[in-house]
Amino acid sequence: MFVSVCFVSSIIELAVILTDSTMPRKKPFKYEIADIVSEYNEELYNDVKDKITIKLVKGFQGWSAKIKNNEAIITYNKSNYADACFAHELLHIKYELNGLQPPLIKDNENVKNIMPFLFNQLCHHKFYQEFYDMGFNEEEFLNENDASEVDTIAKRDIRLLEGIFNTNGIIKGSTALLLPYIVLKSPHDNSETTKQHIERLKKIGDNNFFQTIDTILQDWANQKSLDSSMTFARIFKACNCPRVGFCLSGKDEDVIVAGNGRISLRGVSTA
Ligand SMILES: [Zn+2]
Repeated sequence: MFVSVCFVSSIIELAVILTDSTMPRKKPFKYEIADIVSEYNEELYNDVKDKITIKLVKGFQGWSAKIKNNEAIITYNKSNYADACFAHELLHIKYELNGLQPPLIKDNENVKNIMPFLFNQLCHHKFYQEFYDMGFNEEEFLNENDASEVDTIAKRDIRLLEGIFNTNGIIKGSTALLLPYIVLKSPHDNSETTKQHIERLKKIGDNNFFQTIDTILQDWANQKSLDSSMTFARIFKACNCPRVGFCLSGKDEDVIVAGNGRISLRGVSTA
């Protein structure tokens, strides 16, 4: 705008110039550790930060965590319950440091691409109770972004599966049935809409399959070991993908093949 260097001729003009030149800006959005540590997550934060350097990085959507070059990188986004989101990511880091890592996969079934998603869900089943016991609410387990995405994905997938059901009848255990179901079975989610989605799924899919997945998830949450190889083998057996195998060690003799239902060489049955 035009700013006169002459004497101002009226108070109004002076006011306009002052407003324009001194208009305060908002601070750019940024979280520091102090903004997202609260009495709820302080203990967990202290515990994790003693083991690894924590670096906060501003992201574009959602929250995430990864360990890279011995640093825990936590990507954040604006949230109404940022301390809960931070706690969730700290739990990912804590459990990874304790050995909760994706197993190596021998993939003859073309399922590798869904593994990161499934592994993330298994992590949630493993640490949800700890999150809840810290005093947070169920609804605060996922950030706002992820929660609305769950609903969108579930609606889309169920509609597609209903189309398949209408032509082919009851859908057998498969990864197509697993994906929406496991999204809906997130350990925090007791909402009415989710219950309705599950009911719709149960009308079109093999109910034994859902039962089997429930048992596998329960066993996984209860077991002490953080090795998810057997859990994945059981999940993929239920999905009729028998030729896929998993192991944490990376050694061939440790691979658990879904269709065998036992640890090869050692002959331990999954029952
Ligand atoms: Zn998570």
